[in-house]
Amino acid sequence: MTAQETVEHKYVYDFAEGNRDLKDLLGGKGANLAEMTHLGLPVPPGFTITTEACKAYLASGEQPAGLADQIAAHLAALEQGMGRRLGDPDDPLLVSVRSGAKFSMPGMMETVLNVGLNDRSVVGLAAQANGNHRFAWDSYRRLIQMFGKTVCEVPGEEFEHAIDEAKRAKGSTDDLDLDADDLRALVDTYKKIFSKHTGREFPQDPREQLDLAIRAVFDSWNAERAVIYRRQERIPADLGTAVNVVAMVFGNLGPDSGTGVAFTRDPASGAQGIYGDYLANAQGEDVVAGIRNTVPLQELERINKPAYDELLDYMARLERHYKDLCDIEFTIERGKLWMLQTRVGKRTAAAAFVIAGQLVDEGLIDLDEALHRVNGAQLAQLMFPRFQLDHGFEPVATGIGASPGAAVGKVVFTSARAVELAGQGEDVILVRRETNPDDLNGMIASKGILTSRGGKTSHAAVVARGMGKTCVSGADALDIDVPKRRITVAGRTVTEGEVVSIDGTTGKVYLGQVPVTPSEVVQYFEGELDPEATDGALVQAVHRIMSYADARRRLAVRTNADTGADAARARRFGAEGIGLCRTEHMFLGDRRELVERLILAREAPEREAALAALLPLQRADFVEIFRAMDGQPVTVRLIDPPLHEFLPPLEQLAVDVAVAQERGEDVAKEEALLAAVRRMHEENPMLGLRGVRLGLVIPGLFAMQVRAITEAAVECTRQGINACPEIMVPLVGAVQELETVRAEAEKIIAEVAGGSDVEVLIGTMIEVPRAALTAGQIAEAAEFFSFGTNDLTQMGWGFSRDDVEGAFFWRYLELGIFGISPFESIDADGIGRLVRIAAEEGRAARPGLKLGVCGEHGGDPDSVHFFHAVGLDYVSCSPFRVPVARLEAGRAAVVTAGSDSR
Ligand code: ADP
Ligand code: MG
Ligand code: MG
Repeated sequence: MTAQETVEHKYVYDFAEGNRDLKDLLGGKGANLAEMTHLGLPVPPGFTITTEACKAYLASGEQPAGLADQIAAHLAALEQGMGRRLGDPDDPLLVSVRSGAKFSMPGMMETVLNVGLNDRSVVGLAAQANGNHRFAWDSYRRLIQMFGKTVCEVPGEEFEHAIDEAKRAKGSTDDLDLDADDLRALVDTYKKIFSKHTGREFPQDPREQLDLAIRAVFDSWNAERAVIYRRQERIPADLGTAVNVVAMVFGNLGPDSGTGVAFTRDPASGAQGIYGDYLANAQGEDVVAGIRNTVPLQELERINKPAYDELLDYMARLERHYKDLCDIEFTIERGKLWMLQTRVGKRTAAAAFVIAGQLVDEGLIDLDEALHRVNGAQLAQLMFPRFQLDHGFEPVATGIGASPGAAVGKVVFTSARAVELAGQGEDVILVRRETNPDDLNGMIASKGILTSRGGKTSHAAVVARGMGKTCVSGADALDIDVPKRRITVAGRTVTEGEVVSIDGTTGKVYLGQVPVTPSEVVQYFEGELDPEATDGALVQAVHRIMSYADARRRLAVRTNADTGADAARARRFGAEGIGLCRTEHMFLGDRRELVERLILAREAPEREAALAALLPLQRADFVEIFRAMDGQPVTVRLIDPPLHEFLPPLEQLAVDVAVAQERGEDVAKEEALLAAVRRMHEENPMLGLRGVRLGLVIPGLFAMQVRAITEAAVECTRQGINACPEIMVPLVGAVQELETVRAEAEKIIAEVAGGSDVEVLIGTMIEVPRAALTAGQIAEAAEFFSFGTNDLTQMGWGFSRDDVEGAFFWRYLELGIFGISPFESIDADGIGRLVRIAAEEGRAARPGLKLGVCGEHGGDPDSVHFFHAVGLDYVSCSPFRVPVARLEAGRAAVVTAGSDSR
C-alpha cells in the first residue's frame, strides 16, 4: 500500500486502530469492538471493513479498487497474530463475518460464523480440539447453513427440516444428542440442499467463502426488510453497513464452553444488578434463537467462577466507560472468557428515567446529560395506563405496538357494531384484518383497534395515532374471519362479544380482561404522589429530571383548554397559561337554541336579543377559566368554525320537516332552519365563512365576545383574581381584517375596563399562509402571534386532515414521501419555513412581539425543538401533553454537539 492510498482509500481498520467515535465509518459494532480492544478487554482479534467500502460497492456493484488487497493484508496480519491460516487443513483459523451499521438494526442484517471450514479443515479443527469431532462437524454444518441462507438465499427451512429429521431419527429433540457421525451425515445432507438450490458445490476455498460473505453483508443493506425497517425508524438510507471479520472463538467445545448475553442493569426497570442469559456448549445465535433453554446469568458463578468474576469486572468497567447501561455478548471457550460485542443498550421508557437518575447519583453524568438520556416519547408512554405487572396472562399473539396504551373491551368485527355497542356504554375493541376509511366511525367508538395485517404505517396505525387510540397492528397469528365474526388463534376461537386486552406499546394481545393500573407518573403530576414520600424509583427520577427541564428551558409551556376543569388540570401538569381557549364549545348544548336564533335573525333587534342572551353565559365561562388560571395569561380565540356547524345536519332536518308536514304540524321554524342550512351550505367549509370573516359579516358577534371577556376580567379583578386576557382573532390573512376587528374591540375594552387595572392584549392567529407571508404588516396591528400550525399545515399543503389521514397518508408514509405525518410533527422545510418567516418579519416590525404556537404540534417532541430553534416564546398543547412539552423544551435548551437521542 502506498502512503497516498492509505490516506485516501483506507477501507479496512484493525480493531486496534478504531475507536467508539468512528461509528459512521466502522458501524456501531466495529467501533465498540475497537473500543473494547483499547480498554484491554479480551476481544478476539479482527478488522472492520468500512461503510465507505460498502457505499462504493453498492454504488458500482464492484468492490472498490484496493479493497481486496487491503483485506488480504489485514487477513495476513490476523493469521500471523493467531499463528494460524484461514482454512488451513491442519490448524485452521476460522472467522466470523458480521454486519454492523451505525444504528443497530436488530435482525435486519447478516452474520456468518465459522468461515474457513471445508472438507479438509474440518478434520484439522477436530484434531486441534483434542479430537472433538462432534464440535468440528457441528461448526461445519452451521457454516453451510448460515452461508447457504444468508449468502446464497437457500431457504432456511430446508436446513431446519433436515436437522429436525436427524434429531427425530435419534428419538430426541435436543441437538446435543446428535453425535459426530450424525453431524457428518447432516453436513452431507446440507451440502446437497446447498447445491440443489445454487447449482454449485459448497465453496471449499476459504478466501472465496470470505469474499462472498463480505459481499452478502454489503448486499444485506439493501434487502427489502432492511429498507422498510429504515424507513420506519427514519434511519437514512445511504449510510451503508460496515463488515467485521473476527477470529472465531468457540462456545460449542463442550460443557466448559458456552455463550451468553448480559446487561449491566435491568433494561426493563433500570434496577441495578446482574441481568442476562447463559447457554453452555452453544454457539452465538443459539441464545437468542431459543434452541435450548438458557440459564440466568447468575448461574455462571457456579459453573465457572473465575470467568464470572471477570465478566462482572468488565461489565462494571464498560458501564463506567460508556457512562450508561451496556449490553454485552460473550463466549467462553474452554473456560476462557471472550468479549464479542457491546453497545449502549436499549431500554424501556421507565428504565430510561430510572437509569439516568442513578447515573447522576453515581456521579457518572450530570443533569444536562441525564436530560438527554430521556425523551418526550418515553414520558408520553409512561403517562398511559398500563397492564398490571405480573398479571399472569399469556399473550396469544404479538403484533406491532402501533399506538400506545392498554385497552380492554369486547371484540367487534364491524364499524357498525362498534358504534352500536359503544352507544350502549360497552367498551369495544375493533378487530379487522386491516382497516380502511369506512372503519372511521368504528375506530372512534372503540377503546382500541386490533388488526392482523399491516405495520406501523398501516391505515389502522396512522389513524389510531392521530386519534390517540390504542392500536396493535399486524398480529398475524390471528386468523380473522369477519363474515363469521370470529378469530381463530392458538387453537382457540374468539367470537363477537368476548373480551380481549391489547397492549399498544408491546403489541401483545391477550384473551380476557387483563387488569389495568393507572399511570404512576400521571398520579405524580396530579399531585397524588409525593416523590419525597414514595419509594418509587420511577416517580423520583421523573420528578428530578422534570424539575431540571423546567429550570433549563427557555420556552414557556401553555395549554389548550376550554373549561375551568381542563385549565386546572393542565396547571397541575405544569402549564403556565392558556395558549388556546376555544369559544365554540360555549355555543353548544342548551345554548344551541340561542345560536339558531342568531343565525335565523332577519332584523337587528332579533339578532341583538340573541347576542344579549349569550353574553352572560359566555361571561360566566370566562370567569371560571380566569379563576383557574389566576395570574397566568389566557388567550381566548374568538369564534372560529362556520356557523352551520351549530345547525342540525341537512338530511335530518329535511326528514323532520317532511314528517312534521305529514302530520299537519306547524313547521314554520323548521322550514326556516332548513332554508338556512341550504343557504349556508359550503363546498369547502374549511375555506369558507369562518374565523375573522364571520366576525366581519355578522354584526355584534365578536363585539359580544370581546365584551364578555372584558367584563369577566373586570369582575375577577374585583374579586382579587388576577385575570390576564389575550384576545385572539382567528384566520386572519390581511392586516386590514385585523385592524377592523381591533378598532371595534378597543372601543369596547375602553368602555368596559376603562379605569380598572385590567389589561387586554389583542393579537392574531397565524394560520393562513398569506398571514405568514405578510407578517410584517400584520404585526402592526397585533400584540402577539399564535401559530395555528394545524390550519397552516392544511392550507400550506392544500389538504384537509379529516379527508386525507384515512384516505392516503398510509400510502405516503409507506412510499417515504412523508417520514412522519405533517400533522404529527411539523414539516420544518415547508410549513416550518412559513413559521420562520412570520416570526422574523413580525419581530422586525414590532420588537417584543409575543410569539407562540397553539396547534397540537406544540406537544410534539420534534416540533418543540423546532419552535425553540425558531425563537418562539411559548408552545401550547392539550393538558396531557404539557409534561412532554416541558421535558422537550428543556432538552432543546441543552442540546449539545454530538448528542444523539436515537
Ligand atoms: P447480531 O448483530 O445479529 O447480534 P453478530 O454479528 O453479533 O450478529 O453475531 C451473531 C452471533 O454470533 C452473536 O451471538 C455473536 O456473539 C456470535 N459471534 C459473532 N462473531 C463471533 C466470533 N468471532 N466467535 C464466536 N461467536 C461469534
Ligand atoms: Mg450481536
Ligand atoms: Mg385554525
